[in-house]
Amino acid sequence: GKYTKEDILKKVKEDDVEFIRLQFTDIFGDLKNVAITASQIEKALDNKIMFDGSSIEGFARIEESDMYLYPDYDTYETFPWRPQQGKVARLICDVYKPDGTPFEGDPRYVLKRALAEAKEMGYKMNVGPECEFFLFQTDENGMPTTNTYERASYFDLGPLDFGENARRDMVLTLEQMGFEIEASHHEVAPAQHEIDFKYGEALKTADNIETFKLVVKTIAKRHGLCATFMPKPKYGVCGSGMHMNMSLQKDGKNIFADENDKLGLSQEAYWFIAGIMEHMKEMTAITNPLVNSYKRLVPGYEAPIYIAWSAKNRSPLIRIPSARGAGTRVELRCPDPTANPYLAMAVCLKAGLDGIKRQLPVPASVDTNIFNLTAEEKKERHIHSLPANLREATLAMSESDFMKEAVGNHIFERYTKAKMDEWNEYTRQVTDWEISNYLYKV
Ligand code: GLN
Ligand code: MG
Ligand code: MG
Ligand code: MG
Repeated sequence: GKYTKEDILKKVKEDDVEFIRLQFTDIFGDLKNVAITASQIEKALDNKIMFDGSSIEGFARIEESDMYLYPDYDTYETFPWRPQQGKVARLICDVYKPDGTPFEGDPRYVLKRALAEAKEMGYKMNVGPECEFFLFQTDENGMPTTNTYERASYFDLGPLDFGENARRDMVLTLEQMGFEIEASHHEVAPAQHEIDFKYGEALKTADNIETFKLVVKTIAKRHGLCATFMPKPKYGVCGSGMHMNMSLQKDGKNIFADENDKLGLSQEAYWFIAGIMEHMKEMTAITNPLVNSYKRLVPGYEAPIYIAWSAKNRSPLIRIPSARGAGTRVELRCPDPTANPYLAMAVCLKAGLDGIKRQLPVPASVDTNIFNLTAEEKKERHIHSLPANLREATLAMSESDFMKEAVGNHIFERYTKAKMDEWNEYTRQVTDWEISNYLYKV
């Protein structure tokens, strides 16, 4: 690792740190933390800090609820937005059971397990996410709304772009926390934005996504705005995705590139794509976890619906961006920013590795706009759709041995149950749409 125990103890002193937040995520990807004062840091670094896992959703039953936090020293970072005297630092932790073994309900562990499998095959996984979000106004009580007076669109700048100052602050804060920000811009919908940070090793990137969301929300609030990663907060405009750019590395070299291939892609890259396509329906409940996620996956808003790939066209699920050499990658376009990043990366990696192990032949690419194909044509070309809603996605996951193995029994059981409960609660609602369309005429 980057830091030793002594390094952290020294840093806590030098940085004038008063509080340390010990962070982890629940199975849905929600960030949790417990704060300790600097006086407890040694105890924390020795993995002695305990918490009650039964209060965390999807974690443990009351009878077996003692959990331990094992800080990952390399994740030490201070929060630039907190007081600069008596600073706040954070450490991202792994969750362990009292018997000293990793807790199966810890999503970070699930990703680590998948990465260990890749490592056995000689691979390292790199991921670069593109997180989109909205900046809405808050009401007089400081509560989030979906209101905005902004009317800017793709790549617009101020004064049309009302979010530029907030975005600037977000980028600077992220940089202070060690992020390398590659681009930031206004997105297509009014009040919609995107900030891209440099790709990196999968575990670090998953940690970074959690930090990224915290920073974006925190800084937005300081600007009197509410940042939301909800996939489709508004009918009639684009939703927010989190495209995942993925590649595998062997002996320090990107193995998805092959100059001798027609498209510049290696055999492993094709197998990887085939593996993702093979398992996509089973994984969608992870990459697109909310009832609302499926309202983004509709025609007309640059979001995918069909399980297809292309190096030329943006309408399919998988696109191969034009960069080659070290930048060669597979872009998966369905995930949205509410996906648990650890689980999303774990299942994508497992699917890709499965494609490689089984040497799955890649289906023909679809280089025309799929939305212009008739139902017949799609059938002829074996183009399937993503699950249409959370129910279909959850059923597909529930029936999948691949998914059970990929996320482990513990998460598999709790996740599928929670998602089916979420769907059932949703379908029993009487919505505004029903009232405005039915009440007056029936
Ligand atoms: N917002 C689009 C989505 O839902 C993506 C738009 C883009 O980045 N090209 O995925
Ligand atoms: Mg982008
Ligand atoms: Mg975008
Ligand atoms: Mg993209």
